[in-house]
Amino acid sequence: MITLAMDIGGTKLAAALVDSALQIIARREIPTPASQTPDALEAALRDLVTPLWPQAQQFAIASTGIIQHGVLTSINPSNLGGLSHFPLVDVLTTLTGLPGVALNDAQAAALAEYQQMPPAIRDMVFITVSTGVGGGVIQSGRLVTGSGGLTGHCGHTLADPNGPRCGCGRVGCVEAIASGRGIAAAAEGDLAGLDAKAIFAHAARGHEQAVALVERSARTLARLIADLKALTDCQRVVIGGSIGLADGYLPRVQSYLAQEPSAYQTELSSARHQGNAGLLGAALWAQGNLS
Ligand SMILES: [Zn+2]
Repeated sequence: MITLAMDIGGTKLAAALVDSALQIIARREIPTPASQTPDALEAALRDLVTPLWPQAQQFAIASTGIIQHGVLTSINPSNLGGLSHFPLVDVLTTLTGLPGVALNDAQAAALAEYQQMPPAIRDMVFITVSTGVGGGVIQSGRLVTGSGGLTGHCGHTLADPNGPRCGCGRVGCVEAIASGRGIAAAAEGDLAGLDAKAIFAHAARGHEQAVALVERSARTLARLIADLKALTDCQRVVIGGSIGLADGYLPRVQSYLAQEPSAYQTELSSARHQGNAGLLGAALWAQGNLS
């Protein structure tokens, strides 16, 4: 059984043919269209998958946003250039004639990471810290997506009621503080206007404000992890994303988590899959829900 897996993100669209053993046998990637209207996204997806889908028997989509009954709804429309509603599964079914499923990209990544866990781990949470903050929850060995597709959107839990406004409409979300965009937005003086990558480079050289911004992100994430432990009793939290995997970030999170009461502490590890987690997780979801 060959699955056509797709990963829809704010900067790129990826597609791959994935076999039953979860090996990627072909892969393509294009930039997310600058004009993010439904028509532009549909045209880009058609270009992306046309060389691949004739070899597939089913499709699976991992996408940013909330995925409910195969429809994409954006929780933070700025992550997809204002695109707020898109019938993913219907569009791909019409295009390919294949059966398919869709789920949130961080939920898919959680599933892919969970495949790597020792069997004793039954409850796990995956958190991605990148442009935004997302997550996926595994409970009793199964991915929980929720009746509305919202489970795991931990970036939109409250970190600071006096914090900055988040793109989702709430004030003081974890994402507004800990994410790359949140770090960059809080930069002042000589760091104003720099992106998170540049701010991390300054922090590595000991720049005082840059270190403080990175520490603020790591502290916020550690508190989120303690909350998630209280909510889900997770045995392991896996951290991914460009910020989450940045040099020195995980040890900082670990040291803040160590300051919490022991009941709220849990094992931390770095994500293994990186760039292909969404594709592989989506293919796994299709294997479990379609095949
Ligand atoms: Zn939010």
